[in-house]
Amino acid sequence: MSEFLPFALPDIGDDEINEVLDSLRSGWLTTGPKTRRFEDDFAGFVGDGIEAIAVNSATSGLHLALEAAGIGPGDEVITTTYTFTATAEVVRYLGADPVLVDIDPSTFNIDPARIESSLTPRTKAIIPVHFAGLSCDMDAVLAIARKHGLKVVEDAAHALPTTCNGRLIGSLASDATVYSFYATKTITTGEGGMVVTRNPELARRCRVMRLHGISRDAFDRYTSNKPSWHYEVVAPGCKYNMTDVAASLGIHQLKKAWAFQERRAAMAARYDAAFAGLPLILPPHAPAGDIHAWHLYVVRLSDDSPVTRERFIEQMAEKGIGCSVHFIPLHLHPYWRDRYSLSPEEFPAAQKSYERAVSLPLFTRMRDEDLDRVIAAVRQILS
Ligand SMILES: *Cc1c(COP(=O)(O)O)cnc(C)c1O
Repeated sequence: MSEFLPFALPDIGDDEINEVLDSLRSGWLTTGPKTRRFEDDFAGFVGDGIEAIAVNSATSGLHLALEAAGIGPGDEVITTTYTFTATAEVVRYLGADPVLVDIDPSTFNIDPARIESSLTPRTKAIIPVHFAGLSCDMDAVLAIARKHGLKVVEDAAHALPTTCNGRLIGSLASDATVYSFYATKTITTGEGGMVVTRNPELARRCRVMRLHGISRDAFDRYTSNKPSWHYEVVAPGCKYNMTDVAASLGIHQLKKAWAFQERRAAMAARYDAAFAGLPLILPPHAPAGDIHAWHLYVVRLSDDSPVTRERFIEQMAEKGIGCSVHFIPLHLHPYWRDRYSLSPEEFPAAQKSYERAVSLPLFTRMRDEDLDRVIAAVRQILS
């Protein structure tokens, strides 16, 4: 049998490798000039007037953004059950409560109608998640936030690059947007993340809290007339800074972001064409003129599928192909289920989608033969 085809693999080239070697030789291993360059490049990528704060994960970035947005004990933050636990756990870090809502089954994204019906006097923010790289209905999310005075922090872990009404995610009217550069994401630094915002106060707070609550304003002020060892701690901050070794990868990955997206979109189109007529619900597409990042290609088995989802994934593995499931909704995990007394009946769309969902391999290093192998295996199992 041919070699095992994993569900995802990073795409690291010589430019990334040489940049890492350059960092190792330079003596700058932790946050330094490469991190600054990656931040500048990233801000330029997203748009005019954007500030970018590099961190060691999207989880860290979401924590910083929510803290900077003023979320604290007793607050409620509305998000989707159909996400990774990081989206909601950061709300708990701050002593606030995530309020999980169901998805629109046609997109896997948070259902704006359910945001409205979940509002309480404690609601302070919304975290939309652009599932698989398809934008949420941000017009609706931002309208609800404006009407009720709520903060919006976008979880864009899947959404580089994604557009909404022709505008890049990250450049919309949210308070902050957070990207992930985890090894399986559309661009990677191994581990890493980025917070972007147009709000200079929010950016400043994220920078302070990213590194032990050390105030840069105070630091800069003192470096001019105090010895260089002097600094001031103004809050109990975190240790969330990105290293220059990671940023070395990010600088070159970012340059390839559009080429990666084109390759992913082409692979998704190939899957779509090959799977027409099979007992599958194919992934939703972006509206005409908009861009889907295609971080994931998630199919759902139809009611008339000859196999269960579990059996489908087993049979794919027997054929040497790795699949995954995105996501096990939060309401099914013991911590969230028990802490908030959640039951599947409250999330019928997410529950049904989860029970049938399979993420097929989709990564830029896949060759056409790899795609053909996946297509042949899916056809064999389902016909
Ligand atoms: C991967 C992921 C995260 C966390 O990203 P890290 O960089 O690993 O912290 C958050 N939200 C979603 C939806 C993700 O898929």
